[in-house]
Amino acid sequence: MWNNMFERLRKRMTLMYAFIFGMLILIVVGVTYSLVWYAVLMHEKEDLVAQIYHEAEEYVATEEAPVSEVAIKNGSMLAFLVKPDNKTVLLDQLLGAAAGDILKYHREDWPETDDSAEMLRIRNNVGDRYRYLVAVAPVKDGDKVIGRLYMFKNMEFYYDAAQETLFVLLCIALLLFIPACLLGYWLSKRTIRPIRLMYDKQKQFTADASHEMRTPLSVLNLAVQGLLEDTESRYSPFAAETLQMLKTEVGRLRKLTDTLMELARRDNLGLPVQKETVDFAALCGRVVSQFSLVAEKKQQRLRSEMPEKVLLKGDANSLNMLLIILLDNAAKYSPAASEILLTVENKKDCVVLQVIDQGIGISDADKEKIFDRFYRVDKVRSREQGGLGLGLALAQSIVRLHGGQIVALDNRPQGTVMRVVLPK
Ligand code: ADP
Repeated sequence: MWNNMFERLRKRMTLMYAFIFGMLILIVVGVTYSLVWYAVLMHEKEDLVAQIYHEAEEYVATEEAPVSEVAIKNGSMLAFLVKPDNKTVLLDQLLGAAAGDILKYHREDWPETDDSAEMLRIRNNVGDRYRYLVAVAPVKDGDKVIGRLYMFKNMEFYYDAAQETLFVLLCIALLLFIPACLLGYWLSKRTIRPIRLMYDKQKQFTADASHEMRTPLSVLNLAVQGLLEDTESRYSPFAAETLQMLKTEVGRLRKLTDTLMELARRDNLGLPVQKETVDFAALCGRVVSQFSLVAEKKQQRLRSEMPEKVLLKGDANSLNMLLIILLDNAAKYSPAASEILLTVENKKDCVVLQVIDQGIGISDADKEKIFDRFYRVDKVRSREQGGLGLGLALAQSIVRLHGGQIVALDNRPQGTVMRVVLPK
Protein backbone atom coordinates (compact mmCIF):
# COMPACT_ATOMS: atom_id res chain seq x y z
CA MET A 1 0.00 0.00 0.00
CA TRP A 2 2.70 2.48 1.00
CA ASN A 3 4.82 1.35 -1.91
CA ASN A 4 1.91 2.40 -4.10
CA MET A 5 1.64 5.73 -2.33
CA PHE A 6 5.34 6.47 -2.79
CA GLU A 7 5.14 5.28 -6.37
CA ARG A 8 2.29 7.72 -7.04
CA LEU A 9 4.16 10.51 -5.29
CA ARG A 10 7.28 9.79 -7.34
CA LYS A 11 5.28 9.86 -10.60
CA ARG A 12 3.66 13.15 -9.64
CA MET A 13 7.01 14.68 -8.71
CA THR A 14 8.62 13.44 -11.93
CA LEU A 15 5.82 15.07 -13.92
CA MET A 16 6.19 18.28 -11.94
CA TYR A 17 9.97 18.40 -12.44
CA ALA A 18 9.58 17.57 -16.14
CA PHE A 19 7.04 20.38 -16.47
CA ILE A 20 9.34 22.88 -14.70
CA PHE A 21 12.36 21.85 -16.78
CA GLY A 22 10.24 21.94 -19.94
CA MET A 23 9.10 25.47 -19.15
CA LEU A 24 12.67 26.56 -18.40
CA ILE A 25 13.89 25.12 -21.70
CA LEU A 26 11.07 26.90 -23.56
CA ILE A 27 11.87 30.19 -21.80
CA VAL A 28 15.58 29.86 -22.69
CA VAL A 29 14.68 29.07 -26.32
CA GLY A 30 12.22 31.98 -26.46
CA VAL A 31 14.65 34.50 -24.93
CA THR A 32 17.58 33.33 -27.12
CA TYR A 33 15.44 33.55 -30.25
CA SER A 34 14.13 37.03 -29.39
CA LEU A 35 17.60 38.37 -28.54
CA VAL A 36 19.15 37.02 -31.73
CA TRP A 37 16.28 38.39 -33.82
CA TYR A 38 16.53 41.80 -32.11
CA ALA A 39 20.31 41.94 -32.72
CA VAL A 40 19.87 41.03 -36.40
CA LEU A 41 17.17 43.67 -36.87
CA MET A 42 19.25 46.39 -35.19
CA HIS A 43 22.23 45.51 -37.33
CA GLU A 44 20.14 45.55 -40.51
CA LYS A 45 18.67 48.94 -39.62
CA GLU A 46 22.13 50.50 -39.13
CA ASP A 47 23.33 48.83 -42.30
CA LEU A 48 20.44 50.20 -44.34
CA VAL A 49 20.93 53.77 -43.08
CA ALA A 50 24.66 53.54 -43.92
CA GLN A 51 23.77 52.24 -47.39
CA ILE A 52 21.39 55.18 -47.97
CA TYR A 53 24.20 57.66 -47.22
CA HIS A 54 26.47 55.84 -49.62
CA GLU A 55 23.85 55.68 -52.42
CA ALA A 56 22.90 59.32 -51.81
CA GLU A 57 26.52 60.41 -52.28
CA GLU A 58 26.79 58.43 -55.51
CA TYR A 59 23.49 59.84 -56.75
CA VAL A 60 24.66 63.42 -56.17
CA ALA A 61 28.04 62.74 -57.78
CA THR A 62 26.99 60.61 -60.80
CA GLU A 63 23.18 60.69 -60.81
CA GLU A 64 23.32 56.90 -60.71
CA ALA A 65 20.02 55.47 -59.37
CA PRO A 66 20.39 53.95 -55.89
CA VAL A 67 18.90 50.59 -56.87
CA SER A 68 19.60 48.45 -59.95
CA GLU A 69 16.85 47.29 -62.34
CA VAL A 70 17.47 43.67 -61.30
CA ALA A 71 16.94 44.50 -57.63
CA ILE A 72 13.68 46.32 -58.45
CA LYS A 73 12.44 43.38 -60.51
CA ASN A 74 13.09 40.79 -57.83
CA GLY A 75 11.98 43.24 -55.15
CA SER A 76 15.09 42.75 -52.98
CA MET A 77 15.81 46.50 -52.72
CA LEU A 78 13.72 49.57 -53.67
CA ALA A 79 14.23 53.33 -53.41
CA PHE A 80 12.17 56.50 -53.36
CA LEU A 81 13.64 60.02 -53.49
CA VAL A 82 11.65 63.14 -52.61
CA LYS A 83 12.46 66.77 -52.11
CA PRO A 84 12.83 67.94 -48.45
CA ASP A 85 9.17 69.07 -48.57
CA ASN A 86 8.36 65.33 -48.71
CA LYS A 87 5.97 65.94 -51.60
CA THR A 88 7.85 66.44 -54.87
CA VAL A 89 9.11 63.09 -56.07
CA LEU A 90 12.60 63.18 -57.63
CA LEU A 91 13.05 59.46 -58.27
CA ASP A 92 10.50 56.66 -57.91
CA GLN A 93 12.06 53.21 -57.90
CA LEU A 94 8.94 51.63 -56.43
CA LEU A 95 7.41 51.69 -59.89
CA GLY A 96 7.57 48.31 -61.53
CA ALA A 97 8.11 46.43 -58.26
CA ALA A 98 5.51 43.91 -57.11
CA ALA A 99 5.29 45.54 -53.68
CA GLY A 100 5.53 49.12 -55.04
CA ASP A 101 1.86 50.07 -54.85
CA ILE A 102 1.20 48.58 -51.46
CA LEU A 103 4.34 50.24 -50.02
CA LYS A 104 3.15 53.62 -51.31
CA TYR A 105 -0.29 52.93 -49.91
CA HIS A 106 1.31 52.59 -46.46
CA ARG A 107 3.31 55.78 -46.77
CA GLU A 108 2.15 57.07 -43.40
CA ASP A 109 3.98 54.12 -41.81
CA TRP A 110 7.33 55.08 -43.34
CA PRO A 111 9.85 56.49 -40.83
CA GLU A 112 9.62 60.25 -40.41
CA THR A 113 12.89 61.28 -38.80
CA ASP A 114 16.16 61.08 -40.72
CA ASP A 115 18.46 58.10 -40.02
CA SER A 116 15.63 56.04 -38.60
CA ALA A 117 14.11 52.78 -39.83
CA GLU A 118 10.81 50.90 -39.53
CA MET A 119 9.71 47.35 -40.22
CA LEU A 120 6.67 47.19 -42.49
CA ARG A 121 4.61 44.00 -42.45
CA ILE A 122 1.88 44.49 -45.01
CA ARG A 123 -0.49 42.60 -47.29
CA ASN A 124 -1.98 43.66 -50.59
CA ASN A 125 -5.64 43.16 -51.48
CA VAL A 126 -5.04 39.66 -52.90
CA GLY A 127 -3.41 38.57 -49.68
CA ASP A 128 0.28 38.61 -50.72
CA ARG A 129 2.47 39.30 -47.70
CA TYR A 130 5.46 41.69 -47.80
CA ARG A 131 8.00 42.41 -45.10
CA TYR A 132 10.25 45.38 -45.83
CA LEU A 133 12.68 47.29 -43.69
CA VAL A 134 12.37 51.02 -44.58
CA ALA A 135 14.98 53.62 -43.67
CA VAL A 136 15.34 57.29 -44.55
CA ALA A 137 18.35 59.63 -44.69
CA PRO A 138 18.99 63.11 -46.14
CA VAL A 139 20.60 63.58 -49.57
CA LYS A 140 23.11 66.42 -49.41
CA ASP A 141 24.89 68.39 -52.12
CA GLY A 142 27.68 69.96 -50.10
CA ASP A 143 25.90 71.40 -47.08
CA LYS A 144 22.57 71.77 -48.85
CA VAL A 145 19.90 69.14 -48.33
CA ILE A 146 18.39 68.45 -51.76
CA GLY A 147 16.12 65.57 -50.80
CA ARG A 148 15.26 62.60 -48.62
CA LEU A 149 16.05 59.11 -49.81
CA TYR A 150 13.92 56.19 -48.65
CA MET A 151 15.28 52.70 -49.19
CA PHE A 152 13.33 49.48 -48.75
CA LYS A 153 15.06 46.19 -47.99
CA ASN A 154 13.14 42.98 -48.48
CA MET A 155 13.37 40.99 -45.20
CA GLU A 156 11.57 37.86 -46.41
CA PHE A 157 14.80 35.89 -46.42
CA TYR A 158 15.52 36.85 -42.80
CA TYR A 159 12.05 35.83 -41.70
CA ASP A 160 12.38 32.48 -43.42
CA ALA A 161 15.79 31.99 -41.81
CA ALA A 162 14.35 32.99 -38.43
CA GLN A 163 11.55 30.47 -38.81
CA GLU A 164 14.01 27.72 -39.67
CA THR A 165 16.15 28.69 -36.68
CA LEU A 166 13.10 28.60 -34.43
CA PHE A 167 12.22 25.16 -35.74
CA VAL A 168 15.78 23.91 -35.06
CA LEU A 169 15.71 25.47 -31.57
CA LEU A 170 12.38 23.78 -30.81
CA CYS A 171 13.78 20.43 -32.00
CA ILE A 172 16.76 20.92 -29.68
CA ALA A 173 14.35 21.82 -26.86
CA LEU A 174 12.42 18.62 -27.53
CA LEU A 175 15.64 16.60 -27.45
CA LEU A 176 16.65 18.32 -24.21
CA PHE A 177 13.25 17.50 -22.75
CA ILE A 178 14.09 13.76 -22.69
CA PRO A 179 17.14 14.16 -20.41
CA ALA A 180 15.08 16.69 -18.42
CA CYS A 181 12.46 13.98 -17.78
CA LEU A 182 15.17 11.52 -16.76
CA LEU A 183 16.65 14.16 -14.46
CA GLY A 184 13.18 14.76 -13.00
CA TYR A 185 12.81 11.04 -12.37
CA TRP A 186 16.21 10.87 -10.66
CA LEU A 187 15.53 13.99 -8.58
CA SER A 188 12.12 12.77 -7.44
CA LYS A 189 13.70 9.47 -6.37
CA ARG A 190 16.33 11.35 -4.38
CA THR A 191 13.73 13.64 -2.79
CA ILE A 192 11.51 10.77 -1.73
CA ARG A 193 14.31 8.58 -0.33
CA PRO A 194 14.69 10.36 3.06
CA ILE A 195 10.89 10.64 3.47
CA ARG A 196 10.56 6.96 2.77
CA LEU A 197 13.35 6.11 5.18
CA MET A 198 11.70 8.18 7.89
CA TYR A 199 8.39 6.56 7.16
CA ASP A 200 9.84 3.05 7.35
CA LYS A 201 11.53 3.92 10.65
CA GLN A 202 8.28 5.25 12.04
CA LYS A 203 6.50 2.09 10.95
CA GLN A 204 9.17 -0.08 12.48
CA PHE A 205 8.80 1.92 15.68
CA THR A 206 5.01 1.36 15.71
CA ALA A 207 5.51 -2.35 15.14
CA ASP A 208 8.20 -2.61 17.85
CA ALA A 209 6.33 -0.44 20.34
CA SER A 210 3.07 -2.35 19.96
CA HIS A 211 4.98 -5.62 20.23
CA GLU A 212 6.72 -4.47 23.44
CA MET A 213 3.42 -3.32 24.92
CA ARG A 214 1.71 -6.65 24.42
CA THR A 215 3.32 -8.50 27.35
CA PRO A 216 2.78 -5.81 30.03
CA LEU A 217 -0.77 -5.36 28.77
CA SER A 218 -1.45 -9.08 29.02
CA VAL A 219 -0.06 -9.07 32.56
CA LEU A 220 -2.23 -6.05 33.41
CA ASN A 221 -5.26 -7.74 31.93
CA LEU A 222 -4.65 -10.91 33.91
CA ALA A 223 -4.07 -8.89 37.09
CA VAL A 224 -7.31 -6.91 36.70
CA GLN A 225 -9.18 -10.07 35.82
CA GLY A 226 -7.70 -11.73 38.92
CA LEU A 227 -8.75 -8.84 41.14
CA LEU A 228 -12.27 -8.86 39.73
CA GLU A 229 -12.61 -12.57 40.28
CA ASP A 230 -11.15 -12.40 43.80
CA THR A 231 -14.31 -13.04 45.80
CA GLU A 232 -12.51 -13.02 49.15
CA SER A 233 -11.68 -9.32 48.94
CA ARG A 234 -14.40 -6.81 49.58
CA TYR A 235 -14.22 -3.77 47.35
CA SER A 236 -15.98 -0.53 47.88
CA PRO A 237 -18.43 0.31 45.01
CA PHE A 238 -15.93 2.92 43.81
CA ALA A 239 -13.04 0.40 43.72
CA ALA A 240 -15.22 -2.18 41.95
CA GLU A 241 -16.27 0.39 39.36
CA THR A 242 -12.68 1.51 38.87
CA LEU A 243 -11.56 -2.08 38.37
CA GLN A 244 -14.30 -2.61 35.80
CA MET A 245 -13.23 0.56 33.99
CA LEU A 246 -9.61 -0.58 34.11
CA LYS A 247 -10.59 -3.86 32.54
CA THR A 248 -12.43 -2.12 29.69
CA GLU A 249 -9.56 0.27 29.00
CA VAL A 250 -6.90 -2.44 29.16
CA GLY A 251 -9.04 -4.43 26.74
CA ARG A 252 -9.16 -1.45 24.37
CA LEU A 253 -5.41 -0.97 24.64
CA ARG A 254 -4.81 -4.64 23.85
CA LYS A 255 -7.08 -4.41 20.83
CA LEU A 256 -5.29 -1.25 19.73
CA THR A 257 -1.80 -2.71 20.01
CA ASP A 258 -2.92 -5.91 18.29
CA THR A 259 -4.44 -4.01 15.36
CA LEU A 260 -1.46 -1.67 15.08
CA MET A 261 0.86 -4.65 15.02
CA GLU A 262 -1.27 -6.38 12.46
CA LEU A 263 -1.20 -3.28 10.26
CA ALA A 264 2.54 -2.84 10.69
CA ARG A 265 3.13 -6.52 9.97
CA ARG A 266 1.13 -6.34 6.76
CA ASP A 267 1.96 -3.25 4.82
CA ASN A 268 5.12 -1.90 6.37
CA LEU A 269 7.26 -4.88 6.71
CA GLY A 270 6.20 -6.09 3.28
CA LEU A 271 4.91 -9.35 4.67
CA PRO A 272 3.63 -11.38 1.74
CA VAL A 273 0.16 -12.90 2.10
CA GLN A 274 0.18 -16.66 2.26
CA LYS A 275 -1.99 -17.31 -0.73
CA GLU A 276 -3.76 -20.61 -0.98
CA THR A 277 -6.99 -21.70 -2.63
CA VAL A 278 -9.79 -20.66 -0.32
CA ASP A 279 -13.47 -21.51 -0.55
CA PHE A 280 -14.65 -17.98 0.07
CA ALA A 281 -18.33 -18.98 0.25
CA ALA A 282 -17.61 -21.50 3.02
CA LEU A 283 -15.48 -18.95 4.85
CA CYS A 284 -18.26 -16.33 4.65
CA GLY A 285 -20.78 -18.96 5.82
CA ARG A 286 -18.68 -19.69 8.92
CA VAL A 287 -18.15 -16.03 9.77
CA VAL A 288 -21.86 -15.22 9.26
CA SER A 289 -22.96 -18.02 11.60
CA GLN A 290 -20.41 -16.90 14.23
CA PHE A 291 -21.49 -13.34 13.86
CA SER A 292 -25.24 -13.95 14.03
CA LEU A 293 -24.87 -14.18 17.82
CA VAL A 294 -23.48 -10.65 17.92
CA ALA A 295 -26.25 -9.43 15.63
CA GLU A 296 -28.89 -11.17 17.69
CA LYS A 297 -27.72 -9.32 20.78
CA LYS A 298 -28.61 -6.10 19.00
CA GLN A 299 -31.78 -7.68 17.61
CA GLN A 300 -30.38 -7.28 14.12
CA ARG A 301 -31.06 -9.77 11.39
CA LEU A 302 -28.01 -11.11 9.55
CA ARG A 303 -28.63 -12.68 6.15
CA SER A 304 -26.36 -13.93 3.41
CA GLU A 305 -26.77 -14.57 -0.30
CA MET A 306 -23.98 -16.44 -2.05
CA PRO A 307 -23.26 -19.34 -4.36
CA GLU A 308 -22.39 -22.69 -2.86
CA LYS A 309 -18.74 -22.61 -3.76
CA VAL A 310 -16.52 -19.67 -4.64
CA LEU A 311 -12.83 -20.39 -4.99
CA LEU A 312 -10.16 -17.71 -4.89
CA LYS A 313 -6.49 -17.43 -4.09
CA GLY A 314 -5.90 -15.67 -0.81
CA ASP A 315 -4.99 -15.80 2.82
CA ALA A 316 -7.88 -17.37 4.76
CA ASN A 317 -6.93 -15.73 8.08
CA SER A 318 -6.75 -12.24 6.58
CA LEU A 319 -10.02 -12.73 4.68
CA ASN A 320 -11.63 -13.91 7.88
CA MET A 321 -10.44 -10.72 9.59
CA LEU A 322 -11.78 -8.64 6.70
CA LEU A 323 -15.25 -10.18 7.00
CA ILE A 324 -15.32 -9.63 10.75
CA ILE A 325 -14.30 -5.97 10.40
CA LEU A 326 -17.03 -5.29 7.83
CA LEU A 327 -19.76 -7.17 9.67
CA ASP A 328 -18.71 -5.63 12.97
CA ASN A 329 -18.98 -2.13 11.51
CA ALA A 330 -22.33 -2.89 9.91
CA ALA A 331 -23.63 -4.01 13.31
CA LYS A 332 -22.04 -1.12 15.21
CA TYR A 333 -23.41 1.60 12.98
CA SER A 334 -26.92 0.18 12.46
CA PRO A 335 -29.92 0.43 14.75
CA ALA A 336 -31.65 -2.47 16.43
CA ALA A 337 -34.13 -4.42 14.31
CA SER A 338 -32.39 -3.56 11.08
CA GLU A 339 -31.09 -6.05 8.56
CA ILE A 340 -27.48 -6.75 7.54
CA LEU A 341 -27.02 -8.56 4.27
CA LEU A 342 -23.79 -10.19 3.09
CA THR A 343 -23.66 -11.06 -0.60
CA VAL A 344 -20.98 -12.81 -2.64
CA GLU A 345 -20.97 -12.80 -6.44
CA ASN A 346 -18.78 -15.16 -8.36
CA LYS A 347 -17.68 -13.28 -11.50
CA LYS A 348 -15.36 -14.41 -14.28
CA ASP A 349 -12.08 -13.03 -12.91
CA CYS A 350 -13.13 -11.68 -9.55
CA VAL A 351 -15.28 -12.18 -6.51
CA VAL A 352 -17.51 -9.34 -5.35
CA LEU A 353 -18.33 -9.19 -1.67
CA GLN A 354 -20.89 -6.72 -0.34
CA VAL A 355 -21.87 -6.02 3.24
CA ILE A 356 -25.11 -4.05 3.11
CA ASP A 357 -26.60 -2.42 6.17
CA GLN A 358 -29.50 -0.10 6.95
CA GLY A 359 -27.51 2.00 9.39
CA ILE A 360 -26.49 5.62 9.74
CA GLY A 361 -24.73 5.74 6.35
CA ILE A 362 -21.52 7.59 5.43
CA SER A 363 -21.46 11.06 3.87
CA ASP A 364 -19.73 11.51 0.49
CA ALA A 365 -17.02 13.62 2.13
CA ASP A 366 -16.16 10.80 4.53
CA LYS A 367 -16.33 7.91 2.09
CA GLU A 368 -12.59 8.02 1.35
CA LYS A 369 -11.38 9.29 4.70
CA ILE A 370 -12.84 6.35 6.65
CA PHE A 371 -9.98 4.20 5.33
CA ASP A 372 -7.39 6.46 7.00
CA ARG A 373 -5.93 5.30 10.27
CA PHE A 374 -7.71 6.61 13.36
CA TYR A 375 -10.35 8.39 11.27
CA ARG A 376 -13.79 8.16 12.79
CA VAL A 377 -16.80 10.11 11.55
CA ASP A 378 -18.23 10.38 15.03
CA LYS A 379 -15.46 9.83 17.59
CA VAL A 380 -17.79 9.58 20.57
CA ARG A 381 -20.10 7.09 18.94
CA SER A 382 -17.20 4.99 17.66
CA ARG A 383 -15.58 4.97 21.12
CA GLU A 384 -18.85 4.00 22.76
CA GLN A 385 -19.03 1.08 20.38
CA GLY A 386 -15.44 0.10 21.22
CA GLY A 387 -14.11 1.39 17.88
CA LEU A 388 -10.51 2.49 17.38
CA GLY A 389 -10.69 3.91 13.89
CA LEU A 390 -8.32 1.24 12.61
CA GLY A 391 -10.72 -1.42 11.33
CA LEU A 392 -11.19 -0.10 7.81
CA ALA A 393 -7.47 0.80 7.50
CA LEU A 394 -6.72 -2.84 8.21
CA ALA A 395 -9.52 -3.98 5.88
CA GLN A 396 -8.10 -1.85 3.08
CA SER A 397 -4.60 -3.16 3.72
CA ILE A 398 -5.88 -6.77 3.50
CA VAL A 399 -7.82 -6.06 0.31
CA ARG A 400 -4.85 -4.31 -1.32
CA LEU A 401 -2.50 -7.12 -0.43
CA HIS A 402 -4.90 -9.38 -2.31
CA GLY A 403 -4.74 -7.00 -5.28
CA GLY A 404 -8.37 -5.94 -4.80
CA GLN A 405 -10.34 -2.81 -4.10
CA ILE A 406 -12.68 -1.70 -1.34
CA VAL A 407 -15.17 1.17 -1.54
CA ALA A 408 -17.98 2.53 0.57
CA LEU A 409 -21.26 3.18 -1.28
CA ASP A 410 -24.70 4.36 -0.29
CA ASN A 411 -27.44 1.86 0.38
CA ARG A 412 -30.74 3.30 -0.80
CA PRO A 413 -32.78 4.54 0.97
CA GLN A 414 -30.74 4.11 4.14
CA GLY A 415 -27.36 2.70 5.11
CA THR A 416 -24.04 1.68 3.68
CA VAL A 417 -22.74 -0.84 1.19
CA MET A 418 -19.13 -1.88 1.71
CA ARG A 419 -18.09 -3.34 -1.62
CA VAL A 420 -14.95 -5.42 -2.00
CA VAL A 421 -13.66 -6.75 -5.30
CA LEU A 422 -11.09 -9.51 -4.98
CA PRO A 423 -9.30 -10.93 -8.00
CA LYS A 424 -9.41 -14.69 -8.19
P1 ADP B 1 -14.07 2.11 14.03
O1 ADP B 1 -13.27 1.26 14.89
O2 ADP B 1 -14.27 3.50 14.56
O3 ADP B 1 -15.33 1.47 13.56
P2 ADP B 1 -13.21 1.82 11.28
O4 ADP B 1 -11.89 2.10 10.66
O5 ADP B 1 -13.72 0.45 11.22
O6 ADP B 1 -13.12 2.35 12.76
O7 ADP B 1 -14.25 2.78 10.62
C1 ADP B 1 -13.95 4.15 10.50
C2 ADP B 1 -15.21 4.99 10.60
O8 ADP B 1 -16.02 4.74 9.43
C3 ADP B 1 -16.08 4.64 11.75
O9 ADP B 1 -15.71 5.36 12.89
C4 ADP B 1 -17.46 5.04 11.26
O10 ADP B 1 -17.66 6.43 11.49
C5 ADP B 1 -17.39 4.82 9.78
N1 ADP B 1 -18.04 3.54 9.36
C6 ADP B 1 -17.43 2.39 9.09
N2 ADP B 1 -18.30 1.45 8.69
C7 ADP B 1 -19.51 2.05 8.70
C8 ADP B 1 -20.84 1.62 8.39
N3 ADP B 1 -21.13 0.36 7.99
N4 ADP B 1 -21.83 2.52 8.50
C9 ADP B 1 -21.59 3.78 8.90
N5 ADP B 1 -20.36 4.25 9.22
C10 ADP B 1 -19.34 3.40 9.12
